[in-house]
Amino acid sequence: MQHPVAREMIADADWIEGDVHWRKDLAYYSTRFAGDGFVLVGDAAAFLDPFYSPGMDWIAFTATSAAELINSQRHCKPLGEQLEHHNIVFSTSYRRWLRQFTKINTNT
Ligand SMILES: Cc1cc2nc3c(=O)[nH]c(=O)nc-3n(C[C@H](O)[C@H](O)[C@H](O)COP(=O)(O)OP(=O)(O)OC[C@H]3O[C@@H](n4cnc5c(N)ncnc54)[C@H](O)[C@@H]3O)c2cc1C
Repeated sequence: MQHPVAREMIADADWIEGDVHWRKDLAYYSTRFAGDGFVLVGDAAAFLDPFYSPGMDWIAFTATSAAELINSQRHCKPLGEQLEHHNIVFSTSYRRWLRQFTKINTNT
């Protein structure tokens, strides 16, 4: 009720006793994102936060990179360095995103 928009939205709402649900510790991320014959995309790779809503962005990032790996594989290119780069980039990105987000939440 302290937020003007939220207050307006729920002005006519009725409180339903017991209708409050919560979850915690939803975030996770894999330690490896691609390897011999597999590449993780979307929530299979990681899940960060349902409210800040980065899910679709990460689907785009992971699917684009997965397509590049598959394309290289189909053109018989050696995948070693590309796989290593993929794993480092996604592992660093998810870790940084999560760390930054935790900082923001802690500071507000
Ligand atoms: C409450 C909530 C709110 C969210 N809000 C947003 C938002 O506003 N914006 C945003 O960008 N993202 C949001 N997200 C995140 C977003 O929903 C996910 O990142 C996205 O749906 C992930 O897509 P996905 O295809 O990777 O996985 P999913 O959407 O989970 O799709 C996986 C599919 O595989 C199926 N499946 C599982 N196991 C098997 C099996 N063995 N065989 C066959 N099929 C199987 C499942 O039934 C499911 O249909 C939200 C998430 C939650 C939980």
